[in-house]
Amino acid sequence: MDWTNLIADENWWMEKHFTPGRGGRRITKTVIHHNAGRLSIKGCYDVWQTRQASAHYQVDAYGRIGQYVHDSDTAWHAANNDANATSIGIEHANSGDASSPVTAETLEAGAHLVAAIHRHYDLGRPAWLVNVFPHNHYTQTGCPGHLAGSQNSAYMARAQAWYDAMGSGTTPTTPSPQEDDMALTEDDITRIAAKVTDGLRIGPSGQQATLASFVHAAARDSAAALRAVEALRADLAKVASGGVSADAIVDAVVARIKASR
Ligand SMILES: [Zn+2]
Repeated sequence: MDWTNLIADENWWMEKHFTPGRGGRRITKTVIHHNAGRLSIKGCYDVWQTRQASAHYQVDAYGRIGQYVHDSDTAWHAANNDANATSIGIEHANSGDASSPVTAETLEAGAHLVAAIHRHYDLGRPAWLVNVFPHNHYTQTGCPGHLAGSQNSAYMARAQAWYDAMGSGTTPTTPSPQEDDMALTEDDITRIAAKVTDGLRIGPSGQQATLASFVHAAARDSAAALRAVEALRADLAKVASGGVSADAIVDAVVARIKASR
């Protein structure tokens, strides 16, 4: 993500379900959403191919950011024409189902994105219900879930910290609050790793390794490992069983890699 120029990690430009231009209106705010589920960047794009809706950005569960509608165009996210025309809509993946919070990575990247947008368009320091609004401010909805509830103060504190830091070309002096949102324990991960290792030999770009040794090696190059384990998701789906999903395995491995940094 290029925070200064607002260039997302991935672009999936919508060809429908948005309004070109802003109808002469000025951008004055950001509007916060959650997926009511755990969607990937491409997953949001797919949903909006058939639903008459869109948003400008999605922050996925790993903190990666996708864009779908240009900031200069009006996305259909707030169920309110006036709000749509004057805002930038940001979606956030839940860590699990609609009732779950967002991950620490999503919270941090989403807050950073709010700060970057408020800097870029001179919207002022992010403040809840002043220039940052929840979807449910405009219509009856459960959106944005915990981002308007249990995670709201943390989210806004990080948005303000990033906004202040970006004003002086630095990064926030206080680290992001880490929370353990992984349902799986270390024992679970060990058990799953052993199970997967039994049935599959895996490794980045032809370099064969068991999952256990792969996770161990990840401590040395965590960025490459994170990319590689994402690439394994499809393969893991083939061996996932016993009520353990491929997503849960990937999440567990990602969490362990991050913990080993
Ligand atoms: Zn929403």
